[in-house]
Amino acid sequence: MRAAILKEPGSIEVCSIPRPVPAEGELLIKVMAALTCGTDLKAFLRGHALIPMPGPLGHEYAGVVAEKGKGVKRFRVGDPVMGVHSAPCRDCAFCRRGLPNLCEHIMSTKVLGSFAEYILIPRHIVEQNLFRKPENIGFDEAAFLEPLACVVHGMEPLKLGSKDVVLVLGAGPIGLLHLLLAKAKGARVLVADIEDGRLRAAKRLGAERVFTGTKANEAIRTFTKNIGADYVFECTGQPGVWEETTGYVRRGGTIVLFGGCRKGTTVTYDTERLHYDEITLKGVFHFTPRDVKTAFRLLADRKIEVKKLITAPCSLRDLPRVFARLSRGEGIKYVVLPS
Ligand SMILES: [Zn+2]
Ligand SMILES: [Zn+2]
Repeated sequence: MRAAILKEPGSIEVCSIPRPVPAEGELLIKVMAALTCGTDLKAFLRGHALIPMPGPLGHEYAGVVAEKGKGVKRFRVGDPVMGVHSAPCRDCAFCRRGLPNLCEHIMSTKVLGSFAEYILIPRHIVEQNLFRKPENIGFDEAAFLEPLACVVHGMEPLKLGSKDVVLVLGAGPIGLLHLLLAKAKGARVLVADIEDGRLRAAKRLGAERVFTGTKANEAIRTFTKNIGADYVFECTGQPGVWEETTGYVRRGGTIVLFGGCRKGTTVTYDTERLHYDEITLKGVFHFTPRDVKTAFRLLADRKIEVKKLITAPCSLRDLPRVFARLSRGEGIKYVVLPS
Protein backbone atom coordinates (compact mmCIF):
# COMPACT_ATOMS: atom_id res chain seq x y z
CA MET A 1 0.00 0.00 0.00
CA ARG A 2 1.04 3.61 -0.40
CA ALA A 3 1.78 5.64 2.74
CA ALA A 4 3.22 9.08 3.43
CA ILE A 5 6.35 8.81 5.55
CA LEU A 6 7.87 11.77 7.39
CA LYS A 7 11.59 11.13 6.78
CA GLU A 8 12.97 14.14 8.65
CA PRO A 9 11.75 17.68 9.31
CA GLY A 10 10.71 19.22 5.99
CA SER A 11 10.67 15.94 4.06
CA ILE A 12 7.62 13.77 3.38
CA GLU A 13 7.79 10.91 0.89
CA VAL A 14 5.09 8.60 -0.40
CA CYS A 15 6.43 5.07 -0.05
CA SER A 16 5.19 1.60 -0.81
CA ILE A 17 4.97 -0.41 2.43
CA PRO A 18 3.36 -3.78 3.27
CA ARG A 19 -0.36 -3.62 3.97
CA PRO A 20 -0.84 -4.62 7.63
CA VAL A 21 -2.84 -7.71 8.57
CA PRO A 22 -5.19 -7.32 11.55
CA ALA A 23 -4.51 -9.60 14.53
CA GLU A 24 -7.13 -10.58 17.09
CA GLY A 25 -9.38 -7.66 18.04
CA GLU A 26 -7.88 -5.35 15.38
CA LEU A 27 -9.37 -3.74 12.29
CA LEU A 28 -7.79 -2.68 9.04
CA ILE A 29 -9.45 0.50 7.82
CA LYS A 30 -9.33 1.72 4.24
CA VAL A 31 -8.82 5.46 4.72
CA MET A 32 -11.44 7.51 2.87
CA ALA A 33 -10.50 10.88 4.40
CA ALA A 34 -7.63 12.07 6.62
CA LEU A 35 -7.13 15.62 7.84
CA THR A 36 -3.97 17.63 8.32
CA CYS A 37 -3.51 18.99 11.84
CA GLY A 38 -1.31 21.45 13.72
CA THR A 39 0.53 18.57 15.38
CA ASP A 40 1.46 17.13 11.96
CA LEU A 41 2.67 20.57 10.94
CA LYS A 42 4.81 20.92 14.09
CA ALA A 43 6.35 17.51 13.33
CA PHE A 44 6.97 18.53 9.72
CA LEU A 45 8.61 21.81 10.73
CA ARG A 46 10.78 20.83 13.66
CA GLY A 47 10.09 17.23 14.69
CA HIS A 48 7.81 16.18 17.53
CA ALA A 49 8.57 14.23 20.70
CA LEU A 50 5.51 12.01 20.16
CA ILE A 51 5.92 11.45 16.41
CA PRO A 52 8.90 9.19 15.64
CA MET A 53 10.95 9.93 12.50
CA PRO A 54 11.25 8.44 10.01
CA GLY A 55 7.70 7.23 10.44
CA PRO A 56 4.09 7.33 9.31
CA LEU A 57 2.15 10.57 9.67
CA GLY A 58 -1.49 11.57 10.12
CA HIS A 59 -3.91 10.70 12.92
CA GLU A 60 -7.31 12.13 11.93
CA TYR A 61 -9.26 9.69 9.78
CA ALA A 62 -12.50 8.09 8.69
CA GLY A 63 -12.84 5.13 6.40
CA VAL A 64 -14.32 1.73 5.69
CA VAL A 65 -13.53 -1.59 7.42
CA ALA A 66 -11.39 -3.50 4.91
CA GLU A 67 -10.47 -6.52 7.01
CA LYS A 68 -11.07 -7.63 10.55
CA GLY A 69 -9.15 -9.67 13.06
CA LYS A 70 -10.66 -12.55 15.04
CA GLY A 71 -13.11 -11.69 17.77
CA VAL A 72 -14.30 -8.28 16.52
CA LYS A 73 -18.07 -8.35 16.96
CA ARG A 74 -19.16 -4.71 16.70
CA PHE A 75 -18.01 -4.10 13.12
CA ARG A 76 -18.30 -5.86 9.78
CA VAL A 77 -16.20 -5.61 6.64
CA GLY A 78 -17.58 -2.74 4.56
CA ASP A 79 -18.82 -0.70 7.56
CA PRO A 80 -18.10 3.02 7.29
CA VAL A 81 -16.28 4.04 10.49
CA MET A 82 -14.80 7.06 12.26
CA GLY A 83 -12.39 6.95 15.15
CA VAL A 84 -9.54 8.55 17.02
CA HIS A 85 -5.94 7.35 17.20
CA SER A 86 -5.65 6.55 20.89
CA ALA A 87 -7.46 5.00 23.82
CA PRO A 88 -6.58 4.57 27.49
CA CYS A 89 -5.33 1.30 29.01
CA ARG A 90 -8.11 1.21 31.65
CA ASP A 91 -5.67 -0.19 34.20
CA CYS A 92 -2.97 2.34 35.20
CA ALA A 93 -3.07 4.62 38.26
CA PHE A 94 -4.58 7.50 36.26
CA CYS A 95 -7.19 5.38 34.49
CA ARG A 96 -8.24 4.02 37.90
CA ARG A 97 -8.57 7.56 39.21
CA GLY A 98 -11.00 8.43 36.43
CA LEU A 99 -8.46 10.44 34.43
CA PRO A 100 -8.16 8.33 31.27
CA ASN A 101 -6.88 11.26 29.16
CA LEU A 102 -3.81 11.20 31.42
CA CYS A 103 -3.37 7.41 31.06
CA GLU A 104 0.29 6.49 31.36
CA HIS A 105 0.13 4.48 28.14
CA ILE A 106 -2.19 6.55 25.99
CA MET A 107 0.62 8.12 23.96
CA SER A 108 2.84 5.05 23.63
CA THR A 109 -0.08 2.94 22.33
CA LYS A 110 -1.50 5.48 19.87
CA VAL A 111 -1.47 4.90 16.10
CA LEU A 112 -0.13 7.18 13.40
CA GLY A 113 -0.37 6.78 9.66
CA SER A 114 -3.74 7.96 8.41
CA PHE A 115 -1.97 9.56 5.43
CA ALA A 116 -1.98 6.13 3.80
CA GLU A 117 -4.32 3.85 1.90
CA TYR A 118 -4.95 1.75 5.01
CA ILE A 119 -4.48 2.16 8.75
CA LEU A 120 -4.43 -0.64 11.32
CA ILE A 121 -6.52 0.12 14.40
CA PRO A 122 -5.48 -1.80 17.53
CA ARG A 123 -7.88 -3.56 19.82
CA HIS A 124 -8.02 -1.01 22.68
CA ILE A 125 -9.08 1.71 20.22
CA VAL A 126 -11.55 -0.54 18.36
CA GLU A 127 -13.17 -1.34 21.71
CA GLN A 128 -13.36 2.19 23.09
CA ASN A 129 -13.04 4.91 20.47
CA LEU A 130 -14.29 3.67 17.10
CA PHE A 131 -17.82 4.30 15.82
CA ARG A 132 -19.96 3.46 12.84
CA LYS A 133 -20.17 6.58 10.70
CA PRO A 134 -23.74 7.79 10.30
CA GLU A 135 -24.87 8.20 6.70
CA ASN A 136 -25.78 11.87 7.10
CA ILE A 137 -22.16 12.99 7.47
CA GLY A 138 -19.35 12.67 4.95
CA PHE A 139 -16.02 10.94 5.62
CA ASP A 140 -14.33 14.36 5.58
CA GLU A 141 -16.60 15.60 8.38
CA ALA A 142 -16.30 12.33 10.30
CA ALA A 143 -12.51 12.74 10.33
CA PHE A 144 -12.99 15.73 12.67
CA LEU A 145 -13.73 13.36 15.55
CA GLU A 146 -10.23 13.59 17.04
CA PRO A 147 -9.63 17.37 16.97
CA LEU A 148 -13.19 17.99 18.13
CA ALA A 149 -12.74 15.57 21.05
CA CYS A 150 -9.69 17.61 22.13
CA VAL A 151 -11.73 20.82 22.10
CA VAL A 152 -14.68 19.16 23.86
CA HIS A 153 -12.31 18.02 26.61
CA GLY A 154 -11.35 21.59 27.51
CA MET A 155 -14.76 23.19 27.00
CA GLU A 156 -17.37 20.65 28.10
CA PRO A 157 -16.74 20.91 31.88
CA LEU A 158 -17.20 24.73 31.77
CA LYS A 159 -20.93 24.78 31.05
CA LEU A 160 -20.78 27.73 28.66
CA GLY A 161 -24.03 29.52 27.98
CA SER A 162 -25.59 32.48 26.22
CA LYS A 163 -24.52 34.94 28.91
CA ASP A 164 -20.86 34.17 28.40
CA VAL A 165 -18.29 36.11 26.45
CA VAL A 166 -15.55 33.83 25.17
CA LEU A 167 -12.23 35.01 23.84
CA VAL A 168 -10.28 32.66 21.58
CA LEU A 169 -6.62 33.54 21.09
CA GLY A 170 -5.32 32.06 17.85
CA ALA A 171 -7.47 31.38 14.79
CA GLY A 172 -5.74 28.25 13.51
CA PRO A 173 -7.79 25.06 13.03
CA ILE A 174 -8.05 24.43 16.78
CA GLY A 175 -8.94 28.04 17.62
CA LEU A 176 -11.65 27.96 14.95
CA LEU A 177 -13.04 24.69 16.34
CA HIS A 178 -13.22 26.40 19.75
CA LEU A 179 -15.13 29.22 18.07
CA LEU A 180 -17.63 26.82 16.47
CA LEU A 181 -18.21 24.81 19.64
CA ALA A 182 -18.57 27.88 21.90
CA LYS A 183 -21.04 29.35 19.43
CA ALA A 184 -23.00 26.08 19.35
CA LYS A 185 -23.33 26.49 23.12
CA GLY A 186 -24.76 29.96 22.62
CA ALA A 187 -21.78 32.00 23.82
CA ARG A 188 -20.67 35.27 22.20
CA VAL A 189 -17.24 34.65 20.75
CA LEU A 190 -14.39 37.06 20.10
CA VAL A 191 -11.27 35.94 18.26
CA ALA A 192 -7.78 37.44 18.20
CA ASP A 193 -4.92 36.49 15.87
CA ILE A 194 -2.01 38.22 14.18
CA GLU A 195 -2.94 37.23 10.62
CA ASP A 196 -5.69 38.97 8.72
CA GLY A 197 -6.53 35.89 6.62
CA ARG A 198 -7.23 33.86 9.74
CA LEU A 199 -9.31 36.65 11.25
CA ARG A 200 -11.39 36.76 8.08
CA ALA A 201 -11.98 33.01 8.46
CA ALA A 202 -13.06 33.54 12.09
CA LYS A 203 -15.46 36.26 11.04
CA ARG A 204 -16.88 34.03 8.30
CA LEU A 205 -17.40 31.27 10.86
CA GLY A 206 -19.42 33.54 13.12
CA ALA A 207 -17.07 35.36 15.49
CA GLU A 208 -18.88 38.41 16.83
CA ARG A 209 -15.70 40.50 16.75
CA VAL A 210 -12.19 39.79 15.60
CA PHE A 211 -9.07 41.68 16.69
CA THR A 212 -5.47 41.86 15.67
CA GLY A 213 -3.46 40.40 18.54
CA THR A 214 -1.80 43.64 19.59
CA LYS A 215 -5.10 45.51 19.80
CA ALA A 216 -6.98 42.81 21.67
CA ASN A 217 -6.61 44.32 25.11
CA GLU A 218 -8.38 47.56 24.45
CA ALA A 219 -10.99 45.98 22.19
CA ILE A 220 -11.96 43.38 24.77
CA ARG A 221 -12.20 45.99 27.49
CA THR A 222 -14.52 48.06 25.33
CA PHE A 223 -16.61 45.06 24.29
CA THR A 224 -17.11 43.80 27.86
CA LYS A 225 -17.49 47.26 29.42
CA ASN A 226 -14.23 46.88 31.33
CA ILE A 227 -15.17 43.55 32.86
CA GLY A 228 -13.13 41.15 30.73
CA ALA A 229 -14.02 37.87 29.05
CA ASP A 230 -15.68 35.11 31.06
CA TYR A 231 -13.50 32.50 29.39
CA VAL A 232 -10.23 32.77 27.51
CA PHE A 233 -8.98 29.89 25.35
CA GLU A 234 -5.28 30.06 24.52
CA CYS A 235 -4.78 28.28 21.18
CA THR A 236 -1.41 29.57 19.98
CA GLY A 237 1.16 27.74 22.12
CA GLN A 238 3.19 30.95 22.37
CA PRO A 239 4.51 31.71 25.89
CA GLY A 240 3.95 35.45 25.39
CA VAL A 241 0.28 34.80 24.64
CA TRP A 242 -0.03 32.44 27.62
CA GLU A 243 1.11 35.37 29.78
CA GLU A 244 -1.23 37.86 28.10
CA THR A 245 -4.30 35.73 28.89
CA THR A 246 -4.64 37.08 32.44
CA GLY A 247 -5.05 40.58 31.00
CA TYR A 248 -8.20 39.56 29.10
CA VAL A 249 -10.14 37.50 31.61
CA ARG A 250 -12.68 38.89 34.08
CA ARG A 251 -12.46 38.51 37.85
CA GLY A 252 -13.42 34.95 38.71
CA GLY A 253 -12.95 33.91 35.09
CA THR A 254 -11.28 30.86 33.62
CA ILE A 255 -8.35 30.56 31.24
CA VAL A 256 -7.95 27.33 29.32
CA LEU A 257 -4.40 26.71 28.17
CA PHE A 258 -4.82 24.55 25.07
CA GLY A 259 -1.82 25.45 22.90
CA GLY A 260 1.27 23.49 23.93
CA CYS A 261 4.51 25.50 24.08
CA ARG A 262 7.96 24.17 23.27
CA LYS A 263 9.42 21.78 25.83
CA GLY A 264 11.19 23.59 28.67
CA THR A 265 9.21 26.83 28.28
CA THR A 266 8.39 28.80 31.44
CA VAL A 267 5.92 31.66 31.89
CA THR A 268 5.33 34.35 34.52
CA TYR A 269 2.06 35.62 35.98
CA ASP A 270 1.08 38.48 38.24
CA THR A 271 0.24 36.71 41.50
CA GLU A 272 -2.01 39.51 42.68
CA ARG A 273 -4.21 39.09 39.60
CA LEU A 274 -4.44 35.31 40.02
CA HIS A 275 -5.04 35.47 43.77
CA TYR A 276 -7.32 38.43 44.48
CA ASP A 277 -9.25 38.14 41.23
CA GLU A 278 -9.70 34.37 41.63
CA ILE A 279 -8.50 33.49 38.16
CA THR A 280 -8.54 29.82 37.22
CA LEU A 281 -5.71 28.69 34.95
CA LYS A 282 -6.54 25.31 33.50
CA GLY A 283 -4.18 23.10 31.53
CA VAL A 284 -5.87 20.64 29.20
CA PHE A 285 -4.51 17.62 27.39
CA HIS A 286 -5.99 15.11 24.96
CA PHE A 287 -9.42 13.58 25.62
CA THR A 288 -11.32 10.83 27.39
CA PRO A 289 -13.56 8.20 25.74
CA ARG A 290 -16.47 10.26 27.08
CA ASP A 291 -15.20 13.34 25.22
CA VAL A 292 -14.94 11.24 22.05
CA LYS A 293 -18.58 10.14 22.47
CA THR A 294 -19.64 13.77 22.99
CA ALA A 295 -17.73 14.80 19.86
CA PHE A 296 -19.31 11.92 17.93
CA ARG A 297 -22.81 13.11 18.93
CA LEU A 298 -22.01 16.71 17.98
CA LEU A 299 -20.90 15.60 14.52
CA ALA A 300 -23.71 13.07 14.03
CA ASP A 301 -26.32 15.65 15.07
CA ARG A 302 -24.67 18.23 12.82
CA LYS A 303 -24.39 20.66 15.73
CA ILE A 304 -21.28 22.28 14.30
CA GLU A 305 -20.36 22.88 10.71
CA VAL A 306 -16.88 21.45 10.57
CA LYS A 307 -16.92 21.28 6.79
CA LYS A 308 -16.23 25.01 6.67
CA LEU A 309 -12.78 24.35 8.12
CA ILE A 310 -11.69 22.30 5.10
CA THR A 311 -9.54 24.33 2.74
CA ALA A 312 -9.22 21.84 -0.11
CA PRO A 313 -8.95 18.14 -0.91
CA CYS A 314 -5.56 16.68 -1.85
CA SER A 315 -3.87 13.37 -2.67
CA LEU A 316 -1.00 11.65 -0.85
CA ARG A 317 1.38 12.94 -3.51
CA ASP A 318 0.28 16.53 -2.81
CA LEU A 319 1.29 16.34 0.88
CA PRO A 320 4.76 17.94 0.60
CA ARG A 321 3.17 20.92 -1.18
CA VAL A 322 0.28 21.04 1.29
CA PHE A 323 2.63 21.17 4.29
CA ALA A 324 4.69 23.86 2.59
CA ARG A 325 1.46 25.86 2.24
CA LEU A 326 0.43 25.23 5.84
CA SER A 327 3.84 26.37 7.05
CA ARG A 328 3.28 29.67 5.24
CA GLY A 329 -0.06 30.01 7.06
CA GLU A 330 -2.09 29.21 3.93
CA GLY A 331 -5.26 27.25 4.56
CA ILE A 332 -6.89 25.76 7.64
CA LYS A 333 -7.20 22.02 7.19
CA TYR A 334 -6.64 19.94 4.06
CA VAL A 335 -8.46 16.68 3.55
CA VAL A 336 -6.27 13.91 2.17
CA LEU A 337 -8.07 11.42 -0.06
CA PRO A 338 -5.55 8.56 -0.26
CA SER A 339 -7.32 6.27 -2.73
ZN1 LIG B 1 -5.01 16.33 15.43
ZN1 LIG C 1 -4.16 3.96 31.74
